[in-house]
Amino acid sequence: MGRFAKIVCTLGPSSSDRATIIKLIEAGMDVARLNFSHGTHETHLTTLNLVRECSKELGKPVAILQDLQGPKLRVGILPPDGIILRDGSQLNLFTIGTQSVDFEGDEKSLPLDVPNLSRGVKAGNRILLDDGKLELLVTSVVGEVVKTRVVQGGLLKSHKGVNLPGADLGIPRFTEKDRQDLEFGLANCVDFVAISFVESELDVLLVRETMKALNPSRANTPIIAKLERPEAVKNLHAIMHAADGVMVARGDLGVETSPAQVPIVQKEIIQSANRHAKVVITATQMLESMINNPRPTRAEASDVANAIFDGTDAVMLSGETASGEFPVESVKMMDSIIREAEKHMAEWSHVEEFPKEALKDDALVISNAAKTLAHDRNVSNIAVFTQSGKTALLMSKARPRVPIIAFTPEPRTLSLLSMYWGVTPALVQFSNSLEEMVQSVDRHFKERKHLKVGEQVVLISGFPVGAMRLPNLALLHTIGKEV
Ligand code: PEP
Repeated sequence: MGRFAKIVCTLGPSSSDRATIIKLIEAGMDVARLNFSHGTHETHLTTLNLVRECSKELGKPVAILQDLQGPKLRVGILPPDGIILRDGSQLNLFTIGTQSVDFEGDEKSLPLDVPNLSRGVKAGNRILLDDGKLELLVTSVVGEVVKTRVVQGGLLKSHKGVNLPGADLGIPRFTEKDRQDLEFGLANCVDFVAISFVESELDVLLVRETMKALNPSRANTPIIAKLERPEAVKNLHAIMHAADGVMVARGDLGVETSPAQVPIVQKEIIQSANRHAKVVITATQMLESMINNPRPTRAEASDVANAIFDGTDAVMLSGETASGEFPVESVKMMDSIIREAEKHMAEWSHVEEFPKEALKDDALVISNAAKTLAHDRNVSNIAVFTQSGKTALLMSKARPRVPIIAFTPEPRTLSLLSMYWGVTPALVQFSNSLEEMVQSVDRHFKERKHLKVGEQVVLISGFPVGAMRLPNLALLHTIGKEV
């Protein structure tokens, strides 16, 4: 049997050439993530076109996920070898651009590319540098200067990331760079847009409005809210309603909260996404050691399997595929860990049934009924007809034990479907009637899945055909039999 959970690969210097992209797709890449914290429009366009070409060549749809940078806060310029910050020492912080600060930093004065720093923090706030490896404590704010004590020292180099948990800098979380990148992404038909440092549903709604203004024909592109700030966890329910999906962005989440909280928050987010029938990606450091090693640690293998048991739709590789030495091996390893875990879902999965509240929704009830029917009749596949991809997502969220084949007449929907758990996309001619739909299903299963006359599949769809309705019809079809 195939794999149900999906694999997202971040593409970068180690994986942007044609040969590697082909190998990544063959190894199991379902979604290619373009990280707009790096690269130019030119390099991203080349990679995006290559993914589309290779995917077509191999006959395997691959979704493109555009990941917008958001307001990334960084250290300014330091000497080429960096500086050593010693535990307990005093360090003054300056915002680049204030008091004509464009100097090179040293052990006493640190320039930061952080707008409104002195207004956004107060004594007692923590400031984290370089992915939380170094920690400062604000002791006082004097004019534009933020005075700190080094709590956790170490080597610091130019342009490392800065995190300010709990600070309110009053800066937009959707920046001008994000707007330009979004315009580029929509013009090039990315399948999903991920937005960084989301704090509330307003951040998602703002991006939706911007999409409408920039490119009305692509304004429905699904938005994935990256949950990496403690505020987002507090506003989880409202964000779930506003977004089409979420990412457990464990890198920044672990810095902004603490590594100890990450496993708990991961479970909370995945459960909430499944209850709201939204897609969820678990990201960051999943096979981190494979950046430099051909095998993962046992802890990493367990981490991937546990995310599958938690009920994630997709797991993501970042540095492993973007800049690591073993991009293809990382995908092969992830694929085999998932397959092994999925053999044991019945014993170890924590995924719950749709809550009663959700089952008041007609479309969810039909998806759930189709799952029950498929299990009761022991069918080998569920067929879904979908124009926007929504019906496939709902069927996926019912978590049937059998694969879902999602038929769509829309080439644009085809690649998007690759993100959804358990879903294999298939392009078909538009059906004008239920009879034509059933004929398509019959042909597909006989030719591609080698089902025999007399075997059964479950089909769900919106009815009337072509009316862009959510699923309201479930049908048990016997191969070779007319409707
Ligand atoms: C993360 O922080 O886990 C994450 C996925 O975000 P970034 O784009 O910063 O890697």
